[in-house]
Amino acid sequence: MIWNPERECADRQQMHELQSSQLTAMIQRLYNNVPFYRNKLKEAGVEPGDIRSVDQLKQLPFTTKTDLRDNYPFGLFTVPQEDVVRIHASSGTTGKPTVVGYTQHDIELWAEVVARGLTMAGIHSNDTIQIAYGYGAFTGGLGLHYGAEKVGATVIPISTGNTKKQLQFMIDFRATILACTPSYAAYLGESILKEGISPADIRLRAGVLGAEPWTNEMRKEIEKLLNIKAYDIYGLSEVIGPGVSMECSCQCGNHVFEDHFIPEIIDPETLEVLPDGELGELVFTTVSKEAMPLLRYRTHDLSRLHREKCDCGRTLVRMDKCLGRTDDMLIIRGVNVFPSQVESVLMEITETSPHYQLIIRRENNLDTLEILVEIDEKNWSDSIRELEGIRQRIDHNIKSTLGISAKVRLVEPNSMERSEGKSTRVIDYRKC
Ligand SMILES: [Zn+2]
Repeated sequence: MIWNPERECADRQQMHELQSSQLTAMIQRLYNNVPFYRNKLKEAGVEPGDIRSVDQLKQLPFTTKTDLRDNYPFGLFTVPQEDVVRIHASSGTTGKPTVVGYTQHDIELWAEVVARGLTMAGIHSNDTIQIAYGYGAFTGGLGLHYGAEKVGATVIPISTGNTKKQLQFMIDFRATILACTPSYAAYLGESILKEGISPADIRLRAGVLGAEPWTNEMRKEIEKLLNIKAYDIYGLSEVIGPGVSMECSCQCGNHVFEDHFIPEIIDPETLEVLPDGELGELVFTTVSKEAMPLLRYRTHDLSRLHREKCDCGRTLVRMDKCLGRTDDMLIIRGVNVFPSQVESVLMEITETSPHYQLIIRRENNLDTLEILVEIDEKNWSDSIRELEGIRQRIDHNIKSTLGISAKVRLVEPNSMERSEGKSTRVIDYRKC
């Protein structure tokens, strides 16, 4: 089933016209209501009437996270406070949090895109969805919540944490869908095994997983642990929250809801727009949002765009699963390394669990990479010779994938800290 066939299967010409008219109206609104954008557009030599087509997007200025912080808290809102019905804010690990506002229309739009996404994963009114994303200022919990209610599913708004209660609710309330971060899904899967819960008591059939980058190898691991089909949902609070894009059953990239969020891929160095199929930084323009529309917002997420027709029948552009962020890229001994590359290697090794950590140091002016990998419970009892064999295999595969060698250290099962939200995969002591 397709939630909104008119939009999700629109022909390219129709989509182009819709995006163009929405962009024209958006530029006018930004110019009239937000001094920050008025100045930016003037600097770029753009008058509102100049923009008539989405093809002109590349002439327009970018918006960055720093712009959001500089205009903290409400400087980028285009509507008066009386029209704002909700505020979300990012955790703000460095500096001020980034604030996002929603009008009633924006909340409905959010529910609509999440409903489209959940429908892609085959979720409907007979499902019970356990939402183990954080509720609160973070957009994960409430974002999924309204879309799940819109498709008529039964919602368990359990939020993050309290794994014992998660498992009890999952069993007693017969949850069929799990929504959380991929690392927490893996942890829940392991907990089911550890508690000796019978697979017959777990009725999950699909996972709606996102909020952190994860590889296809990690997907296989989670699918095996929980006996589900795992779908990727992508979003970021600045754009709306979860529901910017979602995987259909073909799992060949996430369909972007481009009637609301127009994606571009740029070269993060030159800022030039890259052609379809090339890897670069994702940029979004939110043409239909009322309270805080963003013009060419730089996400720092790395992806590619594809426009070939998808077997599911949707014509919406697809983005590759995000495998990292421009600021996740580590430069180790002059080589570009993404944590996702390491994850891909580790997930291919069946004797390891999906828990690992990268530790980077600088010793005698030389960068060192240490990789801690947790061994699967079943294999920990193996002889030292067998463990050494596993270690050497990881060592070899890391070297051939990354092009640099790393010190691989195997650690005991369940010895690494588990995360209920986003996990800490990288510790870079060079920055401390
Ligand atoms: Zn599709």
